[in-house]
Amino acid sequence: MPRSGRRTSYSTVDGNGLTVGVLALQGAVDEHLRMIEECGARGVGIKRPAGLDDVDGLIIPGGESTAIGKLISEYGFADPIRRRGMSGLPIFGTCAGLILLSRDVVGAHGPLLGLADVTVERNAFGRQVDSFEDDLEVEGIEDEERLYHAVFIRAPVMEAVGAGVTVMASLGGGAVLAREGNLLLGAFHPELTSDLRVHRFFLDMVAKAARGARHGGR
Ligand code: GLN
Repeated sequence: MPRSGRRTSYSTVDGNGLTVGVLALQGAVDEHLRMIEECGARGVGIKRPAGLDDVDGLIIPGGESTAIGKLISEYGFADPIRRRGMSGLPIFGTCAGLILLSRDVVGAHGPLLGLADVTVERNAFGRQVDSFEDDLEVEGIEDEERLYHAVFIRAPVMEAVGAGVTVMASLGGGAVLAREGNLLLGAFHPELTSDLRVHRFFLDMVAKAARGARHGGR
């Protein structure tokens, strides 16, 4: 089904039939839901851990990692997210979501989910400027439009990544988009642009995982 012009040319993924949850505790929830729907999948805000049972993928949005982290503990999300993540649920952490997924953060921090083998520095670009935009080369999503226009807001950076992590984009000496198995890790805000390529890449991961689960998985 042709969609508006060049935006969707990256992938042939058919998002129909897939449900992607967005952790709806704090932060950029509605923007991600809109992107998921534009990719043709169903987006649902997840406010309680039981909501995780019905999703094929999960996005942990940007916002304030300390606030989201506190609410994750308070609402009992930490163990269910860890469990689903370890059993292969595709999870996309953006900005604060990336911080929470990481195994380690430079300096003092609250509890982390610790699923991703990366070390993150918070507000890594923040001393120079709070928010900025930059055109990045992003491996794995290129189409006729080679560069990806990325929006950074008090953004973290992955200053070290483990051997199982594939870096897809870098900026200023650190990784700003990376994949580790079923995890997608982004320092910027793909939900604040009209470019669907990063969400489509994630939907592709979700579709493959869902197919695997339906065909040979438990
Ligand atoms: N700097 C924020 C934090 O540490 C993250 C910013 C964002 O998600 N846009 O939580």
